[in-house]
Amino acid sequence: MSLLMILGPVELSPGVRAASAEPPLGHTAPALIASFGAALRQMRTVWGAGPEHQPFVFAGSGTLAMEVAATNLLDPGQRALVVDTGVFSDRMARILGRRGVEVERLTAAPGATIAPAEVAAALQGIDAVFATHVDTSTGVRIDVAGIAAEVRRSGALFVVDGVCSVGGEPVAQADWGADVVLTASQKALSVPPGLALLVASPRALEARRRLRVPPPLVLDLLEWLPIHQAYEEGRPSYFATPATGLVRALQAGLDELVAEGPDIAVARHRTAALAMRRAFGVLGLTLVPERPEIAAHTLSALWLPEGVDPSFPGRVAAHGVLVAGGLHPDIRARYFRVGHLGWVTSQPALLAQTVRAVGLALREVGHDCDVEGAVAAL
Ligand SMILES: *Cc1c(COP(=O)(O)O)cnc(C)c1O
Repeated sequence: MSLLMILGPVELSPGVRAASAEPPLGHTAPALIASFGAALRQMRTVWGAGPEHQPFVFAGSGTLAMEVAATNLLDPGQRALVVDTGVFSDRMARILGRRGVEVERLTAAPGATIAPAEVAAALQGIDAVFATHVDTSTGVRIDVAGIAAEVRRSGALFVVDGVCSVGGEPVAQADWGADVVLTASQKALSVPPGLALLVASPRALEARRRLRVPPPLVLDLLEWLPIHQAYEEGRPSYFATPATGLVRALQAGLDELVAEGPDIAVARHRTAALAMRRAFGVLGLTLVPERPEIAAHTLSALWLPEGVDPSFPGRVAAHGVLVAGGLHPDIRARYFRVGHLGWVTSQPALLAQTVRAVGLALREVGHDCDVEGAVAAL
């Protein structure tokens, strides 16, 4: 089997793998209720949220969590500002458009970011701001704390797409004053794909209560609220069947993350990212993000060397490691992406295997480079 160094699904720890292999429990089984409740409490810790914040777990992927945020916060005709740093911000704008929300965008060139001052200047009449903490199509990380401070001053709601950041970058929902921070199970949390996760502020639930046009029933936070409260209080409940097997895997993953300490997990991602970049530098590769300070620690988006064509990830795969191709439409054929998120960042041998596979593939396409030197630099 290939080593997964794409942007999710990612490699699992032995503990999460074991939990994923258990047969699914009934949704009212005491063990499931205990796991569900524990996972919700652990989410508050990992998100930097307070007791007043409400975590939610949906069966679905990250895109579903985006749909939940868009349809629970805004009515058709309200105005949203999308801080657009790439493909996933664009997706959020499309979701909002389908809700009938009027969308304004601040669009960054691929590899660039949007500064808090630019956001501040665009907040007039805006009801909610949507930003992507790490845009997986470019590897750019925005200054989410700085943007959050501007949004808070304006009174608009603030939604953070943290699909490529939660568990791997500093997340501080309470300090930011963010109303929704969302992610998916298969990225930096290192759990199998299938769960959409989000934490909502009291203001977010207020916004839902005020809606004129309610969201689709299965996405409605108010339908799910008593179910999640029941799980935290240890009581059985039912609205629609949760992905019980995945909830067990989620709790195993969050257990490991909380035991390690979320800050230490973030530092582990940073260390791995800097090591990978030193190694990629020896291979002669450069980053798509314009400056090192805005390059995310959960992935490296790397320009392909002159003359190397976009089938390059297939070459790497032949050496047993899956990396991702370009995704941003403006530069798609000119770069590739290596995910280094989740459990794998604690495994130097797997990171070395990745560097070696990339280096050997580069040599095959005529790009002379020092593969063992790169592994040593890692
Ligand atoms: C992966 C990703 C998504 C989409 O998540 P899916 O689970 O593929 O639906 C959204 N936003 C960001 C930043 C992502 O990295």
